[in-house]
Amino acid sequence: MQDEGREQRSESGLAAHARRLARRLELVSSNSSDIVVGVRVDGTILWASRPLVLWDTVDQEALVGSAPCDVIHPDDVEASLAALARIVTEGRLEHSHVLRLRKGDEHRWVSVDGQRVDDPEDEATIVLSFRVCDDEIRAATALAESEHQYRLLAENATDVVYSIDPSGECNWVSPSVTEVLGWQPEEFVGRHVIEFMHPDDLATNLPEFQRIMAEGGSRGHADMRYRTADGTWRWMAVTGRVIRDERGVLRGGIESLRDIQAEVEARDALEKSERQFRLAMHGSPAGMAVVGLDHELVSVNPALCEMLGRTESWLCSHRVDDVLHPDELEDDHLTRRRLLAGEQDDHVGERSLLTAGGERIAVLHSVGLLRDHEQQPLFFVSQFVDITARKTAEAHLEFAATHDALTGLANRAHLVDEIHRSISSSNRSGRPTAVVMLDLDHFKYVNDSLGHAVGDELLRRAAERLRGTVRQGDLVARHGGDEFVVVMRDLDDPTESVRVAQRIVETFRSPVHVGHAELYTTASVGIAVSRKGVDADTLLSEADTAMYVAKDEGRDRYSLFNDDLRAAVTERLRLEVGLRHALERDEFDVWYQPEVDLCDGSLTAVEALLRWHHPEGRTYSADRFIEVAEDSGLIVELGAMVIRRACAQTAKWNRDRPLHPVVVRINLSTRQLAEPTLLRTIDDALQATGASPFWLCFEITETAILRDLAAVDENLRGIRWRGIELALDDFGTGYASLSYLRDIPVAVLKLDKSFVRNLATSEFDRRLVAGIVGLAQGLHVEVTAEGVEDERQAAILRDLGCRRAQGFLFSGAVPPCEIDAMLT
Ligand code: C2E
Ligand code: CA
Ligand code: CA
Repeated sequence: MQDEGREQRSESGLAAHARRLARRLELVSSNSSDIVVGVRVDGTILWASRPLVLWDTVDQEALVGSAPCDVIHPDDVEASLAALARIVTEGRLEHSHVLRLRKGDEHRWVSVDGQRVDDPEDEATIVLSFRVCDDEIRAATALAESEHQYRLLAENATDVVYSIDPSGECNWVSPSVTEVLGWQPEEFVGRHVIEFMHPDDLATNLPEFQRIMAEGGSRGHADMRYRTADGTWRWMAVTGRVIRDERGVLRGGIESLRDIQAEVEARDALEKSERQFRLAMHGSPAGMAVVGLDHELVSVNPALCEMLGRTESWLCSHRVDDVLHPDELEDDHLTRRRLLAGEQDDHVGERSLLTAGGERIAVLHSVGLLRDHEQQPLFFVSQFVDITARKTAEAHLEFAATHDALTGLANRAHLVDEIHRSISSSNRSGRPTAVVMLDLDHFKYVNDSLGHAVGDELLRRAAERLRGTVRQGDLVARHGGDEFVVVMRDLDDPTESVRVAQRIVETFRSPVHVGHAELYTTASVGIAVSRKGVDADTLLSEADTAMYVAKDEGRDRYSLFNDDLRAAVTERLRLEVGLRHALERDEFDVWYQPEVDLCDGSLTAVEALLRWHHPEGRTYSADRFIEVAEDSGLIVELGAMVIRRACAQTAKWNRDRPLHPVVVRINLSTRQLAEPTLLRTIDDALQATGASPFWLCFEITETAILRDLAAVDENLRGIRWRGIELALDDFGTGYASLSYLRDIPVAVLKLDKSFVRNLATSEFDRRLVAGIVGLAQGLHVEVTAEGVEDERQAAILRDLGCRRAQGFLFSGAVPPCEIDAMLT
């Protein structure tokens, strides 16, 4: 009953209260678009200014008395009651409360603000204002979802991620902000992010920010410095993302920061060192180049351009190989390979570069390999310091140290060195070294009477003469004062030194003209030849001794120190004297060696060969004496005799057989061929004997042709004009280039014995002969093989296409009467 009575009273009180409230609140709500609702503290609806959202079609009175759970989405009921309780205790809500109103399965988002209205006359009521906010909520949900995703990423990332509201104020930051920038998240949140950005970077990046805002783009990127908690700045790579709702309204943004301080520092350091390097390179007086791994020139400095006389653009479109001297390329490549392989860190060495003008310059080249931080090779860096001047100075010094200033000849120190070296070489080769020392006779007299200037000039001239007299490769030195020394290495025959000494003595016999003066200075020469165990000083002093002997014996001559040499020279002299006498006493004879056709064995020609019937009873063949005859000049007279006899003989043989004449081949030595009287000798012989030039053939050697003398040319031409054939003797042993075959029309090549000797055993020699035969056939020249001694050689030659041969197999040189027998 008691409960019933209270219920009654409250029912009547509720109605009265609602009416009073309605009057008061109608005023409040008349200007508002919101729906104003009055509720009891337990949420029961007392009154509504308009039908409540989902209940538009229903009379607003119908909801009066509904409890919260009747109209609120079940999920939101609890939170809504809590909000209501807050209004009851605190009088109002700090923030709008959002909830879903429900009618059946339908629901609608509304945002609710509320206020407690106290009434002294009545119980407390709560006035709520409802605003429908479905759109906002949907956008906010999407935002929250993407934010959520970002946060998930961000919370675990080392990057700093923060979100900002539309005004730029930070409302969330990832915990990594502490580690990266030193801020506690709560220090960061709530502040405008611009406060953390470096003003300079803000200024540079502002247009980009504005662009993103204006264009409605969503992403932007910038590198910026951020303030750290300790007041320093740190470089960050910033990626920003703007968030808008469905209607394009700015909702805020999310930015992520990646710490790039280390990268920026490294880049700065690199830029700085590059700048310094460029600066150093540009200003360096040494040539410098950055060279790619394929040797292309990547950059060069002005000094290098100047050094090479090339433009920067030329160089940078070429390879370093194009400016290195070709002789050194291989070595340079090796150096670079070593650097690449890490065998060396850098390399310093001398190199030669080629300038645009083709000039060679000596440089000191230092090269190193530049690698990146992962040790991968990037470039070679090269420096070139021009050391041409130093090299030239060194060469001058070296020359000055080893040469005599007055004559330019080697000096004594150099001379002793050279004798040392020559003796070592002799010990290896077994071929001796000769030291030829000479002294100008009466030089002291010239010097004292005509003055030092004339004396010096005389010494210079003497040096020139000496240089012109010795063999190529012999060293000429000034031993001091008026003494000179010639060192002759690796002598085939020790008597060569005697011939040189002889020439020196002869040369110095002709006068020297200095100014108007005509000076006569002869030379006294001493010769010493090395033998086992002799040293340089001994050899020099022996030559010196021999030279004093020559002076003692009356000057203007040479003298020999060595016994063997003396013996050899004596023998030679004896032979020379003997030859002269033999000529006077007519001890010479001309014998003939037949040349045969290898196919039918017939006689095709004969070669005239000199023989000496020595008074001692022996007959010497030409080998024994021909060299001495040539050296002494006797050959000219002897040769003339041979020509005469051979002509007489051929005239005799051919008188009776004009259809098949025998050709006589006559040897001509170099000396004869250079003799201006040769043609006259030939003509006289032909005329005196009635022989036809067609019955003659002269055998000459390559060496004779090589003597580039007008007289030789003249004689060769004269011989051809007369219709006399030429044969090339000892073919294959000379050094001439085959091109002379074009200029000198030879009819026969005489294949040297040395090719025939090993034909049976050497495949190589067989091929060589086959080649020569082929060459001769191509040039329409006959080939005669010399020194055929057995049947096998003859057979092989025949097989190889060589038609003619000469040799002991057929016959040696025989007296003419034996040829008579062969002809018949
Ligand atoms: P050469 O012109 O090469 O003459 C061929 C030499 O080989 C001759 O030696 C000859 O006797 C020799 N001989 C011939 N058949 C054979 C053989 O089957 N086996 C070997 N091992 N040797 C053979 P010789 O007569 O002693 O003449 C030597 C050189 O002296 C000649 O070489 C020639 O250059 C020169 N000579 C000879 N007579 C004269 C001449 O009248 N005037 C000139 N200027 N030089 C001559
Ligand atoms: Ca010959
Ligand atoms: Ca020969």
